[in-house]
Parts: sequence; structure tokens; C-alpha cells
Amino acid sequence: MRQYDFGMTQLNEATFSSHFPVTGNVLGTFPITDSAAVNEAVASARVVSPQWQALGFRGRRKVLLQWSKLLISRIDEISELISQETGKPESDARLEAGLAIGHLAWAARHAEGVLRRQHRAPGLLMANMQATVERSPVGVVGVIGPWNYPIFTPMGSISYALAAGNTVVFKPSEFTPAVGVWISQSFAEIAPFAHILTTVTGLADTGRALCESGVDKLAFTGSTKTARVVAATCAKTMTPVVLECGGKDPVLVEYDANIKLAADATVWSALSNAGQTCIGAERVYVHERVADAFIAEVLAIAKNIHPGDPQHGNYGPATMPKQLDIISGHIKDAIASGGRALLGGADSVKAPYVEPVILVDVPENSTAMREETFGPTLVINRVADMNDAIAKSNASRYGLGASVWSKRHGMKIAAQLQCGMVAINSTISFAAVASVPFGGVKDSGYGRIHGPEGILEFTYPRTVVRARFQLPVVFTSFRRSKFTDKLIVKLVRLLNGYSIG
Ligand code: NAD
Repeated sequence: MRQYDFGMTQLNEATFSSHFPVTGNVLGTFPITDSAAVNEAVASARVVSPQWQALGFRGRRKVLLQWSKLLISRIDEISELISQETGKPESDARLEAGLAIGHLAWAARHAEGVLRRQHRAPGLLMANMQATVERSPVGVVGVIGPWNYPIFTPMGSISYALAAGNTVVFKPSEFTPAVGVWISQSFAEIAPFAHILTTVTGLADTGRALCESGVDKLAFTGSTKTARVVAATCAKTMTPVVLECGGKDPVLVEYDANIKLAADATVWSALSNAGQTCIGAERVYVHERVADAFIAEVLAIAKNIHPGDPQHGNYGPATMPKQLDIISGHIKDAIASGGRALLGGADSVKAPYVEPVILVDVPENSTAMREETFGPTLVINRVADMNDAIAKSNASRYGLGASVWSKRHGMKIAAQLQCGMVAINSTISFAAVASVPFGGVKDSGYGRIHGPEGILEFTYPRTVVRARFQLPVVFTSFRRSKFTDKLIVKLVRLLNGYSIG
């Protein structure tokens, strides 16, 4: 068992430890950063903010692409660390890190194009004006991350915020502080100067301190419950927030779907990473005509999937031990309310692991259908048609992602779903496409990371309207005449299609 020493803790300092979830062994010890130290980190980030902005798009692009190269060359090292702190297989960690690096490079290459000054039509009444919109970085961005994808998820905010010209202070999850520290230490190796990206480790109070620190924007990824607290804390200082929260993602399987592909991808989406994926499949609505075939295929695949340590399991343990009670509560409620377990059941929860659980015919009001389970469980319910599937999908308080399986009706079904992202004949594919925005609606949050929207999220628009020449008639003056007043009304009528009476 490897122990990590980041050389961060000092004598008499409050600390906490991160653990290997398979054995509970300590991996490393980290400072609990107090609010004074968080404020200091934000103040330092603010001091260097003009310098980072002054590098311009080209300068920042160079730095960020250099960082992405460094991350590629160290991918084995970071994958091992992710695997140790989360318990997930190293190959999954490598995929996660690879995707994060892809987003970093995309943001670096596209920030200039996305944020280029735009010219807007001034309208005939203001034809003498040149109307432009510039985008300015917000300044210092606070990022608070979860543990389930400890590099992919926070980097979705960090990369896009940095590329847009902001400096960043990052508070990783208390379950994955080593990955969080590794991220900023790797950046420091290529950074042109200090404090562009700083990691502050700690528990909930450190997160709260970051919300109260006066950052110019706070990007939070985590549970809906914490998101409400974060939004309320940030409201006190009018700090704008991006909230990337939980989900209860549905899978809709139409009668014309490729059942083998749909079942294979859905099992992976539900069970990989021990089901700890915000955009993972949690509930399936399958057309009754193909339901038996789909369920049979799912069971045939899922019965050969088993959890274990990073070297042996198809997926790892529950990273957060207290999640096990929620998972077993949902399984019990599904069965007590009339659902049937076709694979596993409540006794599949064997700390620290959960064996795959496949449930069918679970009433929609069961907690297993309403709340995020965040475990390797999947509920499959039959529906009469896709209208029924769409209505049930939309009845959730969550609206993060969805997956649709149909050869001919995918786009039509997708257009009716109340959620931020839909994958058709694929699963969670939208997270890997850097050019599209990522985020949810309803209790799944608001704001977007990834894509042009993810770059814009960390900027604000500044409108600049310049008089190219002066008109003989002046509207914005106390010297405005009666003639001008009449002219304004006439012009407004004319320009808006009314006849001049
Ligand atoms: P969590 O809400 O428990 O914690 C998230 C972060 O918030 C941690 O760093 C934590 O220390 C911090 N925090 C806790 N209390 C705080 C407070 N009062 N003020 C400020 N910060 C505080 O979530 P988690 O268990 O780490 O992550 C799992 C959740 O994240 C799941 O619900 C999952 O669906 C969601 N998630 C969403 C996305 C997405 O992009 N939508 C991605 C990954 C995970």
C-alpha cells in the first residue's frame, strides 16, 4: 500500500486523511484549510489575475497545451492515484484522465474563437453606432469538486475557466484530496508564475469558506443537497454560481432499438464506477414489445459483472461508505413497493462492495425511481409506448442526462425530454464531446461547463457602442426639440411595421 506525501501538512495544523476505500488504509494526510488561508489563496489568485489575462489567448493556449502534454506523459501516475483514492479500476481512471485532458486541449484551442469580439446590427434608429460585445473573464473562479470522477469533473470547470482568462482556487472533495493536490502541483510545473491555479484541501467548511471568499464565480459539482447550501451561501455576496448536481437518468428503449447494443451500453452505464456516475443509467423505460428480450440480454451481461479491488473487479467499492445505506434502502423500498429483483437484492450490499442489482416493475413512487441511488443498480420498467416513457422520464425532479435507443425515432424522442443532454444509440457520449455543453435542468442544476457555453460561463459580456458619426437630430439631449419627439414616434412606427397616421 503506497502512502502519498505531498509535503503539505505542518506541525499543529488541523488535518484530515484520505483512504483506499477497499481496505480503509490511509493514503495521505492533508491540511484542513481554514477561512483565513482560503481568503489568502483567493487574494493571491486575484493579484496575478491581470498577469494571466495579459498573456492573451495565445499565451494561455501555449501554457494550457503544455499542461495537457505533461498530463498525457503522466497519465499512468495520475490514473494510479485516482484508482487508489476512489477504488476504481486503473483502466477506468485512465479513461477518465484521458477525457479530462481532451477537454483541456479543446478549451485551450477554442477560447479565442469563442470569446472574439462580436459586431451586432445597431438597428436603423441607431445606424450611426458601431455595436460590439466583448467578453471579459470574471476574475477569480472558485471550483468545488466531488470524488466520483476526481479529475474529469473539476477539470470541466478548471480548464474552461483558465482558458477564458480566469485564475482558479480549487477545493477538491475530502475523499480525493490527493488527486486535487496533484492537479495543481502538475500545473505548477509548467506555470509561468505562481497562484494561477491553487488547490485548498479540507472538508465542508473549507468549501463554505471558498463560497464566502468573494470569488467572482463559484463552480460547484456535487449533490443537489449541498448545491442548495452553496447557492444560499453565495447569494449573500451575490456570487454567481454554476451548479452541476445529481441525476436520475432515464434510458428509453423503443421497439425498433438494437436490443443487444442498448443492453450492453445500459449495463455499463449503470454498473461501471460502481454506479457512481451522475449521468449513469438509473432507470429504463422499455417498450413492452421488446422488454423481455431487453431484460434477458441485460441479465446475461450483468450476471458476469463483479466488483472487486482495482486489479480484479469490473468496478470498485462504494467510495463513500455512507452511500451503502442509501443503496440498500432503495433496493428494499423497490421490493417492498411491489418491484421484483431479477438479479441480486438487498443482500447484494456487502461493504465495501455492492454486487449488481437488476430490478423490474418498480412503482414510479418508490425512492428507487425518484431519488439518485448512486450505486450499481438498475430498474427496468415496461411502457406501452414512447409517449409513456417520455412522460415518466420527465416526471422526475432531476433533469441531467438521458439515453434513447431507437433506429428511427431517436431525434423525435430526444426533443421531448426535459434534461440537459441526450445520447441517442449511445450512452453518456455527450460528456466526451468537448464541443457540446454539459449540465442539467431542475434539481440537476444550472449553468454549463464544456463547449463554447462552458467558456462563456466564466466570462461576462461587456457591451461597447461607439458613435461612428453624429446625426443632425439628437435624441439624448435636453435640447431635444418637439420635431425630434415627433420624428422618434414616426420612426418607431415605420421601423416596426405600423402605418404612419
Ligand atoms: P457532495 O455534495 O457531498 O460534496 C461535493 C463537494 O462539496 C465536496 O468537495 C464537499 O466538501 C463540498 N461541500 C460540502 N458541504 C459544503 C458546503 N456547505 N459549502 C461548500 N462546499 C461544501 O457531493 P459528492 O458526494 O462529493 O459527489 C457526488 C454527487 O455529485 C452526486 O450527487 C453526483 O450526481 C454529483 N455529480 C454531479 C456531476 C455533474 O456534472 N452534474 C458530476 C459528478 C458528480
